[in-house]
Amino acid sequence: MRVRQHLRPWTVFLALLLVTAAYLAGRPQLLLFDTAELPALLLVVILGVVLIGLWSQARARRRLARLASVAEAIQSGDFTARCDESGGDSIASVAGSINRMAAHIDATLAQLRESEDRIREVAYRDPLTGLPNRRLFEELLEREVEAARRYEYPLAVAVMDIDNLKDVNDSLGHRSGDQLLRAVAERLVHQLRGSDVLARLAGDEFALVMRSAERREDVLSVLERVLRRCREPFELEQREIQTSLSIGLCFYPEDGSSSQELMSNADFALYRAKAAGRAKVRQFDQSMNELATTRLRMEQDLRRAMDGDELILTYQPIVALDDRRIVGLEALVRWNHPEDGLLTPDRFISLAEDAGLMPQLGYLVLMKACRHAVLWQQTGLSPVPISINVSVRQLQAGDFAERVERVLLLTGLEPQYLKLEITENIAAEGERILEHLSRLRSQGVGLAIDDFGTGYSSFSYLLEHRIDSLKIDRSFVRDLPHNADSTAIVRAILSLAERLDLEVVAEGIERPEQLELLREAGCRLGQGYLFCRPRTKADIQEILRTGSVPSGAADSDATDAVSDDPLPSDPASTDATSSDSDPTDLLEAG
Ligand code: C2E
Ligand code: CA
Ligand code: CA
Repeated sequence: MRVRQHLRPWTVFLALLLVTAAYLAGRPQLLLFDTAELPALLLVVILGVVLIGLWSQARARRRLARLASVAEAIQSGDFTARCDESGGDSIASVAGSINRMAAHIDATLAQLRESEDRIREVAYRDPLTGLPNRRLFEELLEREVEAARRYEYPLAVAVMDIDNLKDVNDSLGHRSGDQLLRAVAERLVHQLRGSDVLARLAGDEFALVMRSAERREDVLSVLERVLRRCREPFELEQREIQTSLSIGLCFYPEDGSSSQELMSNADFALYRAKAAGRAKVRQFDQSMNELATTRLRMEQDLRRAMDGDELILTYQPIVALDDRRIVGLEALVRWNHPEDGLLTPDRFISLAEDAGLMPQLGYLVLMKACRHAVLWQQTGLSPVPISINVSVRQLQAGDFAERVERVLLLTGLEPQYLKLEITENIAAEGERILEHLSRLRSQGVGLAIDDFGTGYSSFSYLLEHRIDSLKIDRSFVRDLPHNADSTAIVRAILSLAERLDLEVVAEGIERPEQLELLREAGCRLGQGYLFCRPRTKADIQEILRTGSVPSGAADSDATDAVSDDPLPSDPASTDATSSDSDPTDLLEAG
């Protein structure tokens, strides 16, 4: 093609020359020109030159036009278009430059596209499971809601949470935790349809949008199947791991019209699923919403309460059952809410736990109680240990032992006068967390298992951390002496404790017949309305002066711990922490 193009003008010229040569050859005097023939010859030459000129002009025009069209293609984004570089002239060299430029742009773009893909992958995918991440999920959910609105079909939105990922991380390490996450993701993917969108939002949380949600029973049965499948053991590094999921579920359009509303309602439902004992699916209903609004308000109030001085301590004596001698005091926190009045812990402890406020609240309680204990000792009262309730969340914060040590140091309370009450469930938190307790125990701080008998963990495991007392849960004491099961349980706990040399405190003693049975069964210590309700600091100081609880301390018809013992309107006057040397000054944020 190239050769042909190249030869075309010369072919014509050559043909003319050949014709001329043939004409000359046919003459008798071969090389002698007749002057009469010269004009004809000249005409042939001129004709040839003109022909060649016209032809090459037309060719240049064609090449320039092609060049222009390639340049246009490049300009409109087709960087693979190339010019014809033949000809060896200036047009060819321009064509060469354009080609090189296009090739360069093409290569650069390919690189850019590749890194853009990588960026998208990082920005929108969870690297561990390969599932869409929260950001992508939110975009996809928005699109799904938009489509569902346009074509009028329902959607199901679910938020799922692995119940014990934290335990796996703590006890087997993060590598196993990661493996568990991948394995759970895999099982989820297998249980769902291709049209369902599954994502990993963060940590142990997954989310799901399902399009075919016309029949709620179908959605629920899919999720129940997911739950069952995830309860089957996982094999991680030659170990069998048991886990479960909790799922919160809501539907478009009934439970929310926007992706944000759907997500937050699915979250409420998840929260309820967890509160109901985990490993469950819970569907959102409107009452959860009201609850959530109230909780949000309370949460804001609680933050404020901790900054101010609305949290106060009451104390309930722990007594020797035979002579009512006070052997200890349990600090029980109260919230003096400006509008709702005096609130008991059931109204705000779990709220504080969910809002991440427990480490701060716990520290405040600890600081106040230790300070009070020191003040009582300083006024000459004989010292008794103060028991403090410790939430799992405080231990999870990671610096629990340091915090307690700091409080002891700042207040000057000797460690043997502090006792920490933990629940059995703390055992599930893993070794790292229990180390904090062992460390404090070795310094002389007491450790008691609270609500004993209601937890489900391995008790022997806790014993290794040198627990020194047990508190028999109120639910067993309540039914004494008539309920045979409760009686048997209480006796069993007492004989076990005796063999292990553990101190036992019976909680919630309200009636003399309960006391009688407990004493007869060998229980030496107890706590309950029969002896004394939780009292303000000022009251307790009076009671401590006598050393034992007076019979009048228990007001049998009073049902509220403090209603029969109203606090002065200014809680500061009952609370030593608001004195000039307020230890809360020493509290750091968080
Ligand atoms: P708990 O540790 O089992 O505390 C004993 C609870 O039983 C107290 O309720 C106390 O008032 C109540 N009680 C004592 N004697 C009797 C009785 O004879 N009959 C009945 N019916 N109840 C009795 P309170 O003060 O409402 O505390 C409830 C729970 O809140 C506590 O249970 C404890 O788990 C938690 N709590 C209290 N203060 C704190 C705190 O400062 N930190 C943490 N983490 N939890 C706390
Ligand atoms: Ca307790
Ligand atoms: Ca208890």
